[in-house]
Amino acid sequence: MGRAGFVAGNWKMHGSLARNQELLEAVVSGTRSLQNVSCAVCVPYPYIVQAQSVLEGSHVAWGGQNVSQYHHGAYTGEVSADMLTDLGCRYVIVGHSERRILFGEENRVVAEKFRAAQECSITPILCVGETLAQRESGEAEQVIATQLDAVIDLAGIETLRHSVIAYEPVWAIGTGKTATPQQAQDVHEFIRSRIAVHNSRIAGDIQILYGGSVKADNARELFAMPDIDGGLIGGASLVAEEFISICLAAQN
Ligand code: PEP
Repeated sequence: MGRAGFVAGNWKMHGSLARNQELLEAVVSGTRSLQNVSCAVCVPYPYIVQAQSVLEGSHVAWGGQNVSQYHHGAYTGEVSADMLTDLGCRYVIVGHSERRILFGEENRVVAEKFRAAQECSITPILCVGETLAQRESGEAEQVIATQLDAVIDLAGIETLRHSVIAYEPVWAIGTGKTATPQQAQDVHEFIRSRIAVHNSRIAGDIQILYGGSVKADNARELFAMPDIDGGLIGGASLVAEEFISICLAAQN
């Protein structure tokens, strides 16, 4: 049996109660007949309750875009994995490049967030990826290996059984520039081989998503690559028809 497909939307800091309601309802009805692919939306914290109330019992799961590395305490402004669990979140994004670059999250903190999610039985979607400068100087694999190793060293290889990885080249996020299917496939294969050094079974089973300007019209060729199991979708997840088409493209 091959790996099932998975498509997750990352709404980032977008939305309003009225707009979300329309989008969520459209996504539920448009993904009703999906086979062998799951989908989720990762929404801003204030809208998780709304997502839960619309999506409960549907084919679409919901999750957060970030999580604290701490479980509770005097951490003003933070949201814990325990709280996300309380609101029925199945997933949380950790280590998105916007968190790493704009909010200074280093590999160690990302690994702690990954572990905190796991401890609450939430599946972390671990984002890894290189900047354009790193790719051009031939450092892409080293950067990604370091990002992965930080998690494996802290949380242990077994935790990857219940996680998802998203390869998101920073230069492709929100830029309209997509990695070619072969460029993405090469990195996905590298990620799998890196995990296989520790455990080949986990390497074969783990879902690895591609993220970076995926749209309805380029999703199919990306998802056709052998090591690409679906996508983490930013901008296009805010448009119901686009997101639904991308979910359909991940069916195999
Ligand atoms: C993202 O933010 O994870 C992302 C992939 O964004 P976009 O699809 O807009 O490039």
